[in-house]
Amino acid sequence: MAIKILPDHIASQIAAGEVVERPASVVKELVENSIDAGSSHISIFINGSGQDKIEVSDNGSGIVSSDLPLAISRHATSKLYSSEDLFNIRTLGFRGEALASIGSVSHLNITSCVGEENLGWQMTLDGGFARDPKPVGAARGTVIKVESLFYNVPARLKFLKSEITERKHITNFIMRYALAYPQIRWEYYQDGNLIFQTSGNGKKEEILSEIFGVELTKKLLPVEYQNGNLSIMGFISPISITRSNRQDIIFFVNGRLVQDTFLTSAVIKAYRTLLMVGRYPLVVLFLNMPFSEVDVNVHPSKAEVRFRNSETVFTEVQRSIKRALLAYSPVPNMNVSVLWGNYSQKLDPAWEMASSYVNHDTEKTSVIGSEAISQNMLPVQHLPLLRLIGQVAATYLIAEGPDGLYLIDQHAAHERVLFEQLMTQYYSSNVSSQNLLDPPVVQVSLEKLGTLDNQIKHLNKLGFHIDSFGPGQFKVRAIPSILSQGNPDQAILSLIETFEEDESTLSLDIEARIAARVCKRMAIKAGQILSIEEQKALLTDLESCQSPRTCPHGRPTMIHLSVDLLERQFGRTGSR
Ligand code: ADP
Ligand code: MG
Repeated sequence: MAIKILPDHIASQIAAGEVVERPASVVKELVENSIDAGSSHISIFINGSGQDKIEVSDNGSGIVSSDLPLAISRHATSKLYSSEDLFNIRTLGFRGEALASIGSVSHLNITSCVGEENLGWQMTLDGGFARDPKPVGAARGTVIKVESLFYNVPARLKFLKSEITERKHITNFIMRYALAYPQIRWEYYQDGNLIFQTSGNGKKEEILSEIFGVELTKKLLPVEYQNGNLSIMGFISPISITRSNRQDIIFFVNGRLVQDTFLTSAVIKAYRTLLMVGRYPLVVLFLNMPFSEVDVNVHPSKAEVRFRNSETVFTEVQRSIKRALLAYSPVPNMNVSVLWGNYSQKLDPAWEMASSYVNHDTEKTSVIGSEAISQNMLPVQHLPLLRLIGQVAATYLIAEGPDGLYLIDQHAAHERVLFEQLMTQYYSSNVSSQNLLDPPVVQVSLEKLGTLDNQIKHLNKLGFHIDSFGPGQFKVRAIPSILSQGNPDQAILSLIETFEEDESTLSLDIEARIAARVCKRMAIKAGQILSIEEQKALLTDLESCQSPRTCPHGRPTMIHLSVDLLERQFGRTGSR
């Protein structure tokens, strides 16, 4: 076959495959154009799944009549002039292909007016074929109507999901953008019914309440974080509110909604020791940084970005979340189902550990809504002073606090104590080691050999001193002093058992993860009888922890029976 240059409408259809995946992608492109045009009022109307009709109308700058044919041509844009601009993009659009792509797979009708004498111009693009503009009466702004999406690409139609699903994508998208642009007045109609609207008064909290409900919104914790020219603002769920999937982990980078598995994993890591396995937080973060720090030209749908310093962004996102969580961590209250033994949620396995340790600098944060303030007024990161009552079943400590009874799991609590002590020393580069008089030799299977080899430098940073001794043999010459009660060769052996090969991506986390494992092995066990002094010492140590309420692997270290709960259980409420 001879080689031919494709006709324009076919080239557009091919490009459309990347830009227009489903009705929600059309909404995205049109809405982004309206935002770029400086609109303060955007209305979206859809019929059915959006496949029948999508209409977006705005009061933005409009397009002058002579530019109208260009607006719907491929690679025609008003947002980019030179190749340098490409690395300094301030608008949501810049590729100049959205309207051409959409118009190649639908009936597109565009009416635009720049505000002169209520005269606008209208033109259509049908399956890629344009008709000349004609004058119409119109108010300032642009209305774009897209009908019969994919009518000429039946293969695409087959990939569309149910009406409910397609609508959900559209609604999610609109709500997210409304949140990111609260100064715009949004209206969204489905089949003529108003589904969602905002006032445009700039208050994100009001829009959050629309989206997630008032009650949930009150419980969200604010994130306000700034480091150099990177700022991270937003809202995150406290550990008591979780989701079964990652869909509510949302990022805006310089006003652009982005999907980024890397950022998502930073968030999940920040929560990891605090949530049950398979549960995810609700997170909306707005990252702002110089435009030159982000490459947005990664994919035609512009939903992915590349950061110039991705490791830094990752660490900062994690840190911003940990700080917000730490500032507001509540004492886990025991609910009645726990009391009756229904505590069956699956727990985070030990090896899922990531650091929940945060450096000591605290941060100023404010809370949404006055009720939230009263709930969170006392961001008790630390435990209240506890009075030891005793040990039960050689496994739990019982203590009394100002607000009721605390049942403490001695193993989990000790794990937390050792972990924080070790990490504090590590962060201040001041780990004290204790030499072993009779250094044990650890024999490692060939399969695990490489893994241990890789980890030795991290172990040594944590206060171990491990040398290679012979083929597959290692000598443990010193261990961190705070672990001197334990059994080092056992600890190292079981540590190696659970090592995973992929633990090398972020060196920052590795030490914390390893420390958590070591501490788990070295901590007091359940079933171990403790003297009164040991029990008291454990409580005191726990009181001075940063995150005393969970072990480094996310299990609760304690259960709180509030006076209130006790009264209810004994039927005493109301009798006072
Ligand atoms: P891009 O947004 O990448 O520039 P599009 O194909 O989405 O490409 O739009 C092409 C051009 O049409 C834009 O650069 C802009 O000048 C104009 N345009 C599109 N939609 C609007 C709108 N709602 N208001 C004003 N101008 C618009
Ligand atoms: Mg665009």
